[in-house]
Amino acid sequence: MIVRRKTRKIRLGDQAHGFVSIGGDAPVSVQSMTAGYTFEIDKCVAEIQKLAAAGADLVRVAVPEKKDTAALKEILPQVTVPIVADVHFHFQRALEAIDAGVHKIRLNPGNISDRAQVSDVIQACKAKKIPIRIGVNEGSIVERKDKQKRLKELGGVFSDNKHGHFLAIMVTKLEEYLDIFRAEDFHDIVISAKSIDPLLVIDAYKAISERFDYPLHLGVTHAGPRETGTIRSVAPLSHLLCSGVGDTIRISYASDPVYEVQDGLELLYVLGLRTRIGAELIACPTCGRIQVDLFKLVQDVRKQLAKEIRLPIKVAVMGCVVNGPGECEGADIAIFAGDRRGIIYVQGEKVANVPEENILDALLKECREFQAKVERGDAKLGEKKVDVIPPDPLGELGSGWEKIQKEKGLRLPVVK
Ligand code: SF4
Repeated sequence: MIVRRKTRKIRLGDQAHGFVSIGGDAPVSVQSMTAGYTFEIDKCVAEIQKLAAAGADLVRVAVPEKKDTAALKEILPQVTVPIVADVHFHFQRALEAIDAGVHKIRLNPGNISDRAQVSDVIQACKAKKIPIRIGVNEGSIVERKDKQKRLKELGGVFSDNKHGHFLAIMVTKLEEYLDIFRAEDFHDIVISAKSIDPLLVIDAYKAISERFDYPLHLGVTHAGPRETGTIRSVAPLSHLLCSGVGDTIRISYASDPVYEVQDGLELLYVLGLRTRIGAELIACPTCGRIQVDLFKLVQDVRKQLAKEIRLPIKVAVMGCVVNGPGECEGADIAIFAGDRRGIIYVQGEKVANVPEENILDALLKECREFQAKVERGDAKLGEKKVDVIPPDPLGELGSGWEKIQKEKGLRLPVVK
């Protein structure tokens, strides 16, 4: 069980878009960002709603131009999830977004040159009780255009730490920014300190979590496409979350942002930081014993479960009866494949033995029926485990056992 760091709590949202709390005793939330242009209103609405349907607790949109903030007034009434406006360089965009009714502002005070302008944004947020995320991302905290200034900034702080300069700059800049907010007595704040380097992400958030009690928005910037970005993101985020650090997360991919939500939620589910919505799928990796197309079956089962199952039913898709029963322990529903067949168990009871082409339909039928039983109160999730050895695997699943027996010298289980 993960013990989370104690932080302040912020709240955002409204009746029409729902409320989300970040920090304190609130569950860790998942957010994402639209990839399209905000000014393309219909497309933006569709993308926000797709992310909301995938389970995003809040969705961020970029507002680089006035036409983007103007679009917000039309977008907001059409969406059902709180919206965060992502502001860089132009404080007016923040004021326009606040006026349009957004629920949170993401600001990097470092790229808004005039402190008075930052104060204007703070006061506007204060008046409307809108929180602000302060980002000190690695990519945007150090001066890039002015080489002299950049060198001065990089040389202005020193540390022996592996990530010395950047870590020191991130914390120093954050202190600097927070002073502005404290001066305005504004504490409706979430902090982020992202980097592309997973180890710097860990060090930066640890350092910040030790210094400030504001909730933290975790993320790795520019993590790349999902294929490689998953590991780059999940490695540091898991480390931090397991240490109790992190109150809201965004996984960033150069891929469809729906994956950011799906993977973010899955990370929180497997760490026990969120209550799972929908089925949990277990599947074996397959090996030389496999006698059905398990990879395809698993993908088909995954897609259908996501569409049809609301409850956190544990479903196991196992390639054979050798290790399957042990490996899927705790599953409510399991299928063990054999020689082009599959035996289906529901909470320890064998309910079907079907040819490969019928496995998907038969398994989903059992899942739907089990879900209905649980909802009626006639069954409980996780009540009986699938701790089964098929009574007659050779007869029911075909020659898989013969093959295994011959190759590995295995003995058939004792039939009782
Ligand atoms: S369940 Fe069977 S097929 Fe799947 S990996 Fe284990 S031993 Fe191999």
